Amino acid sequence: MNQATFDKERIDPVLADMFIPPSSHDNETHLVASKCNKCGVYFFPKRHICPNCFEEGTLEDKYLSNEASIYTYCVVRAAPVGFDSPYILGYVDLPEGIRIFTMIETDNMDDLKIGARVRLIAGKIRRDENGEDVMGYKFSVMKER
Ligand SMILES: [Zn+2]
Repeated sequence: MNQATFDKERIDPVLADMFIPPSSHDNETHLVASKCNKCGVYFFPKRHICPNCFEEGTLEDKYLSNEASIYTYCVVRAAPVGFDSPYILGYVDLPEGIRIFTMIETDNMDDLKIGARVRLIAGKIRRDENGEDVMGYKFSVMKER
């Protein structure tokens, strides 16, 4: 999939610390988590102190896997201002044991099902009050092989 590069100021400020969009030297989108090097647990969004160990200095930034599976989803038909309806929201499960609430997109609604494989992408989430596109991360349903 072709992904555009993004201006930092166009990224949704709520999501800005949570992911790294594609760049000229890395065409992939990355979710940035914290991993505790004492207990091994991942946290997303990032934490400053491990909620298991309660010690400082045990967390390091780690990229999460870019593929996940749909835990559950819903189709939103009553969209808030700035969102185009219908759109899909759901939870996806990552191999690191993280469950993420996210926007999901698909070319074919028949492919949208619980357990479907999804891939992390960067793209338009909504429009701001000036009508400008605001970018963030979301997951795209992968074609079944
Ligand atoms: Zn820990």
